[in-house]
Amino acid sequence: MDKKTIDDVDVTGKQVLVRVDYNVALDAEGRVLDDTRISASLDTIRTLIDRGARVILISHLGRPRGKPAPDLSLAPVARRLQDLLGRPVAFLHDCVGDEVNAYVHHKLKDGEVVLLENVRFHPEEETNDPAFAKQLAALCELYVNDAFGAAHRAHASTEGVAHYRTAVAGLLMAREIDHLGAVIESPERPLTAILGGSKVSTKVGVIRNLLERVKVDHLLLGGGMTYAFLKALGKPVGASRVDDESLAMARDLVKNGIPPGVALPTDVVVTDRGFDIKKPLNPEAQVKIVPAEQIPEGWQGADIGPETAKRFGEIIRESKTVIWNGPVGVFEIEAFAKGTNAIAHAVAASGATSVVGGGESVTAVHQAGVADQISWISTGGGASLEFLEGKDLPGLKALEDKTPKPEQSSPAGATGRA
Ligand code: ADP
Ligand code: MG
Repeated sequence: MDKKTIDDVDVTGKQVLVRVDYNVALDAEGRVLDDTRISASLDTIRTLIDRGARVILISHLGRPRGKPAPDLSLAPVARRLQDLLGRPVAFLHDCVGDEVNAYVHHKLKDGEVVLLENVRFHPEEETNDPAFAKQLAALCELYVNDAFGAAHRAHASTEGVAHYRTAVAGLLMAREIDHLGAVIESPERPLTAILGGSKVSTKVGVIRNLLERVKVDHLLLGGGMTYAFLKALGKPVGASRVDDESLAMARDLVKNGIPPGVALPTDVVVTDRGFDIKKPLNPEAQVKIVPAEQIPEGWQGADIGPETAKRFGEIIRESKTVIWNGPVGVFEIEAFAKGTNAIAHAVAASGATSVVGGGESVTAVHQAGVADQISWISTGGGASLEFLEGKDLPGLKALEDKTPKPEQSSPAGATGRA
C-alpha cells in the first residue's frame, strides 16, 4: 500500500482521532450480535495505546438519518470493546461539542481510550460538511482511518476530516488494501473469481473490471445473476426474478457471446414456490434439479446444481488465487445452500490465496465452517466491491501518500491504486 500508516508517524502523547467501522448488528435488547468488526480494530487501538497515544474513536452505526436515535447508540459497543480490550473505554454522548472538547483536551491521558457517540446523529456527517469536518479535526492532532468498511463513502469522518490534519491509515485499513490489492494486481495464476449474489446490476462493475483489467483466468457466475444471463442468451428462466436493469446489463455483456473464461451454471436447483430468506421454505414447495437451459415455466432458480458445483469446484481447486463475492444460491434457506457450501469448501481446500468480500458471502463462509481456511475475509461489503470494481475509495484517497505522487495523472482505475 502506498499510503502512510500509524507505523510511519509519531503518535506518542498525541490526541489521535481514529475512524473505526463499528457498524455492527445489535439485537432487540441492544446487545452486540457480531463483534467481528470490533475485534478487527483492536490491533490499531493496542498499537496506539502501547505508543502512548490518546485514542479518540469515532464511528457510525446504522442509518439514523442525521438525528439521535437511542437504538443506534454506540454505548453497547463501548462496553464490548472494553471487554475485548481488557482496559477501560470511556463513552461520550456526542461526537462534537463542549462536553467532548473538554474531555479530549483536558481529561484524556496518554494510553487512554474514549469512544464518541454515533457520528451519523449529525446530518453534516453524510453531507461531508466542511465546518463539521473541521470540528472533528479540532479534536485531534493526528487522524487515522481504520474504517475500511466505510472507505467508499466520502463523509465528514471518513474523508472531510482528512483535509485538516495529518491523515494516515490504521493497520486494518492497510491489511485490507494489501490483501485485496494483491489479488487483483499481482495474483499468482490461474486466478479465478466467483461472483454470485442477487442481481447483475449491483455486480456489473466488478464483472467488467475483473474481465477487462484484472483479466481473471476464470469467472464463475452463480446466484440470482445467472438468470439474467440465461434470459439474455434467449433461454427460458421460468419464474426466476430478473429485473430490467440487470437484463439490459447482461445483454450487453454477452452481446458477442459469452466472454472467454466466463462460466455459467449448467444445472440449477429450482422451486415452484416463492420464498423468503427470513423464513423456512414452504413445506409444500417442490424442489428439483434441472439443466440450466430448461427451467420449467412457473419455477424459479435458487441455487447452482450439483454438476455445476463439481465443475466449478474443479476449476477452483486448480487455481492459485481465488476471489469470491456473492453466494451462488439462496444459502439462507437450507434447501438452497448446497451450492454455496460446496464453493466454500472448494475454496478452503484449494490451498489458493483466497479473498472473500461482501456481507452475505462472509456469512456464508462462516456458515460453512471454513472461515479459518480463507486467506483474507474482508470487513467491508460495499467497500470491497468498489475496490474490486477498480474504483478509488475516497476514505483511502484522502490519506497521505508514502512517497509524493508524480505530477502526471493516470487513467481511472488503471494504476495508482493505493
Ligand atoms: P454479498 O453481500 O456477499 O456481496 P449480495 O448482497 O450481492 O452478496 O447477494 C447476497 C444475496 O443473494 C443472498 O441473500 C442470497 O440469498 C441472494 N441470492 C443468491 N442466489 C440467489 C438466487 N438464485 N435468487 C435470488 N437470490 C439469490
Ligand atoms: Mg449483500
